[in-house]
Amino acid sequence: MDVPDRSHVEMLLQIARLLTTLDLDDVLQQTIQLTTQTVGAARGTFFLLDEQGESLQGFISAQAYDAETREIVSRRVLEQGLAGWVMANQQSALIEDTLTDPRWVVLDAEKERARVRSVLCVPFFVEGELRGVMTLEHPQPRHFTQAHLRLVEAAANQAAASLRNAQLFERVQGQQRQLRAILDSVSESLLVLDRLFCVRLANPAALTLLGAQESDVLGFNLETLAARLDNLFLAQLAQKLTAALQKAQNRFELRDERTKRDFVVNVASIEARRADESGYVLALSDVSSLKDLTRLKTHMIQMASHDLKNPIGVLRNYLDVIRADVDSGLLPDPRLLENMYKTLARMEALVVNLLNVQRAEETEPLSRELFDPYDLINAALEDILPAVRARQQTLIQNLQPNLRPLRGDFSRLREAINNLLDNANKYTPEGGEIVVSAYSEDERFTFSVKDNGYGIPADQQAAIFQPYFRATQAATQHISGSGIGLSIVKEVIERHGGQVWFVSKEGQGSTFGFWLPILT
Ligand code: ADP
Repeated sequence: MDVPDRSHVEMLLQIARLLTTLDLDDVLQQTIQLTTQTVGAARGTFFLLDEQGESLQGFISAQAYDAETREIVSRRVLEQGLAGWVMANQQSALIEDTLTDPRWVVLDAEKERARVRSVLCVPFFVEGELRGVMTLEHPQPRHFTQAHLRLVEAAANQAAASLRNAQLFERVQGQQRQLRAILDSVSESLLVLDRLFCVRLANPAALTLLGAQESDVLGFNLETLAARLDNLFLAQLAQKLTAALQKAQNRFELRDERTKRDFVVNVASIEARRADESGYVLALSDVSSLKDLTRLKTHMIQMASHDLKNPIGVLRNYLDVIRADVDSGLLPDPRLLENMYKTLARMEALVVNLLNVQRAEETEPLSRELFDPYDLINAALEDILPAVRARQQTLIQNLQPNLRPLRGDFSRLREAINNLLDNANKYTPEGGEIVVSAYSEDERFTFSVKDNGYGIPADQQAAIFQPYFRATQAATQHISGSGIGLSIVKEVIERHGGQVWFVSKEGQGSTFGFWLPILT
């Protein structure tokens, strides 16, 4: 039995310390270096196999190889060389002289003979599975002894635990990278909290929602964060989460009053054996557009039923009169029939608006056809002309010649222009004037409709493009509408990359317009 050398004990201790090193390359590099030094080898190489123990995952050597040589060395040595023999036999090998041992493959005859005469090669087992082979070489024959062999085996045993740790860590890190990529790509805001509601993880969508950096939120409890970021939404999130957990509910709704956005929050519990690893995953989905549509729909239904009730009553009265006339052998009064047509037109307009809301809900994609802007304006004017005539209004066209072609959704833009013309017609008294202008300049197409009608009170102008907002003023009280037209104009124009605008003065008139980018 050999007496353990101090340097040998020191080496084993140092390898044992590698247990805390989690970098796989580091573990192998240091093991190779320590063993090479301790046994006085000239060169050490480590062949790392993949976790199935089948193919080469890494090749760590004390000396640098170019990529091509690495490929040849690793393939030949593993298939036919000593490392291959050690792997196949799952046992260590000591070659006292490479010249007489058939297990040694001569890679480059002259150089190899000059350099390597004795070799030690030991297998690495991790949890009983072969995971690699370490080879140590020396230019003198019979340099290595059986004592060296046992020492290197002990080093291999010792290093195997570190190797296992580092591999586990690498695997976990790989999984974390995958998880991170998933979290980064989801559009929902995700927050991972521990049991005390401290933020453990927040994906980019959540950070955007909170208007904070990752370093601002990680490790902070929701309530502390709410105070720090002066964010009422977070405070409510903490409150509602507590309430939901008490009632064993895994979903609740939350509104962000600041941004007027509505969220549905889904909660999943993380049940871990260790209390400090348990917690909650919160997924916040923005359902504002759905909520807006639901509100809009409810409003439209209320409004439609209210506004339709009145003309239906009017029609019934007219019909009663006409029936009484017919019963007495009289022809119906033509004025009554005329009024009935007008009432029907009002009802028709209401139904059209309802259909528009339905369309907005479907958010059909825009088409991108190339068209002549005169065709667009003429089509919209054609639609409005009968109403303009009926109100004896003057329509002036102020269209620049040679307007450049536009690209976009012809029918949606026609609907937008119709809404502006329709408003000018409705909110301008009989005999008024409507001026339609259009010009192209600086890659923009600009369109506007000016009227000299009732105008909009200054204090109500800010909300004018909001869905179902209608100005309240005595002059326009009698005019029916849904308050949806302008919001549709805004949506259509903005989806085309343009902008809407208006100026208005109560009692003097309004100008509504928009510009669109000219895309070729
Ligand atoms: P609606 O006309 O159906 O009420 P809109 O969304 O088209 O809905 O318009 C919203 C409100 O804006 C109208 O109710 C009206 O008060 C005001 N408005 C729109 N266009 C004009 C205009 N040309 N002149 C005066 N007021 C207008």
